[in-house]
Amino acid sequence: MAVNYICRHCKTSIGTLSGSDLTEQQLGFHFLTPEERSDIIAYDPSGDVTVKVVCDYCREAMEANPELHLVMNPLQ
Ligand SMILES: [Zn+2]
Repeated sequence: MAVNYICRHCKTSIGTLSGSDLTEQQLGFHFLTPEERSDIIAYDPSGDVTVKVVCDYCREAMEANPELHLVMNPLQ
């Protein structure tokens, strides 16, 4: 099992965790609401997990220019 963290905006790979004994508690998933889980976490058919987060670059860009958020999420 691998957990891949990617930026939800620029799709940059932020990091990967792998291991057979990763639990939702270790990953912090148990803090999320069901809505957040379905939004943030994607389960791959291969068994891997993709977690969509926001990278530092995009976070800073959005804080500096809040209107960018709309531009970067054209489908939302
Ligand atoms: Zn990003």
